[in-house]
Amino acid sequence: MVKYVFITGGVLSSVGKGIVTSSVGKMLQTKGIKVTAIKVDPYVNVDAGTMNPYMHGEVYVTDDGGETDLDLGWYERFLDLNLTMDNNVTTGMVYKSVIEKERKGNYLGSCVQIVPHVTDEIKRRIQNVARKSGVDVVLTECGGTVGDIEGLPFLEAIRQMRLEKGYEDTLYIHVALVPILDVTKEMKTKPLQHSVNELRRIGIQPDMIVARSREMINKEARRKIALFGTIPENAVFCSFNVESVYEVPIILHKQGMGDFIAQRLNLSSRKPQWSEWEKFVEIILHPRNKINIALVGKYAGLADSYVSMNEAFKHAGAICQTSVSLDYLEAERFERQPKTLESLKNYDGIFVPYGFGPRGSEGKVAAIRLARENNIPFLGICYGFQLAVVEFARHVCGMKDANSTEINASTPFPVIDLIPEQHGVKIKGGTMRLGAHKIKIKAETVAYSLYLSEEIYERHRHRYEVNPFYKPTLLKHGLVFSGQSVDGKRMEILELSNNFFFFASQFHGEFKSRPTKPDPEYYGFVKSCLERKLGKTAPKLVANRSVD
Ligand code: GLN
Repeated sequence: MVKYVFITGGVLSSVGKGIVTSSVGKMLQTKGIKVTAIKVDPYVNVDAGTMNPYMHGEVYVTDDGGETDLDLGWYERFLDLNLTMDNNVTTGMVYKSVIEKERKGNYLGSCVQIVPHVTDEIKRRIQNVARKSGVDVVLTECGGTVGDIEGLPFLEAIRQMRLEKGYEDTLYIHVALVPILDVTKEMKTKPLQHSVNELRRIGIQPDMIVARSREMINKEARRKIALFGTIPENAVFCSFNVESVYEVPIILHKQGMGDFIAQRLNLSSRKPQWSEWEKFVEIILHPRNKINIALVGKYAGLADSYVSMNEAFKHAGAICQTSVSLDYLEAERFERQPKTLESLKNYDGIFVPYGFGPRGSEGKVAAIRLARENNIPFLGICYGFQLAVVEFARHVCGMKDANSTEINASTPFPVIDLIPEQHGVKIKGGTMRLGAHKIKIKAETVAYSLYLSEEIYERHRHRYEVNPFYKPTLLKHGLVFSGQSVDGKRMEILELSNNFFFFASQFHGEFKSRPTKPDPEYYGFVKSCLERKLGKTAPKLVANRSVD
């Protein structure tokens, strides 16, 4: 019998519900319980793909090509799972299918309503994931904050699931902020009490409460939360500030949260195994070395725009016992003040992430040129890969004003051009080249030494690619395409053999990076930055990508 755990949030958004959800999953997993996680997002977009990363954070991409909320990234990293687009449910998706069914005549004769039609569709989607994944426990995190108008149908659906599945198979966890006053140091539980009341007004009584606060809550705060929340004191947990998010499952486990959930849901479990995770956290907290990397990007003002990349650097750093500090630099600054480019020479590596549109692209090209000409380790992802081709075409192959047609439609050398299948695509949502595709790796290349395999599957999200017309010229001048699609038409990885480390990929390795299984391209880059800095060899990545 599958069990359902629902996680709601109160007081504020961004209190770390995603991390708590992932941590609950981790605690259960260490006990040998199989889990999956769903994010329900009340916004009306059908998926996160049409939102600006600068406002909403990065768009996460699943193997099956889903463009999802970034919380799926946290679930995948913490739980080492490959989720599907079904694990993200939005208002847009739900209404879209209800309206399509209505038009088809599936509800002929009835008045289509939020209850039961919309709530049934939400429940159907949650149960569909439960059935397909074959897990013991499905975690469902409700996006937003209780009290939001748009979240109501979702809360109503999960309320009904208690009725349908019964007490023993359902559990509600409410996560809410407990602010601590600067002057008196008082822990204020009133906002949390109000959010519990709001939840009850909808008909949900939480079974457990996680207080999110700066420090561990004191006895008095715990007593009040339990009293006003109508739960026993041992059902109150605290997610306090820690140095690394990867510590959160450990601190909650130490408070007995995993045992509490397993008992409450009557799940048979084994003694939890934490050694691998603890080892990873230990390295993250006490690295031996440090490297500084310049991230030259367009959404540098919001760290969440690059969250998977940021985490991939931590994972790669851990294996090298190194902390990776990323400086988020606005590429446009290098266009306005070209002299500031010189400052990039002080970094151990230069990283150009994904991106869209012309803003900042010349600044990125200039940064890539500086990396190539000064032999500074370079990693480019997606747009970073495409602009590395542009830079090489202009400054090595002599193709003046070479560009991507995304930036300049009338460039004389369109070295990056729209993917042929993209011509005529008018609908913007969900139509890029998405998800995992097979890539052939060339023997005796840097790529091969990192992936140790002739065939890999990596996740994509793009409309443009290397124009195959220019492939012979680029190759003639020394650019190596060490990863290509099976038919050889699509360029997937580039490298320069004479440079210390100059590597870029059309795909996004960061989406498959896990704490104890770092992604090869990020690992290769971090390792090279470290080796260049220390002048000696960094630890080797073992074939199975796990920490040795
Ligand atoms: N804008 C480029 C494209 O659409 C790169 C996309 C990306 O960096 N994800 O191909």
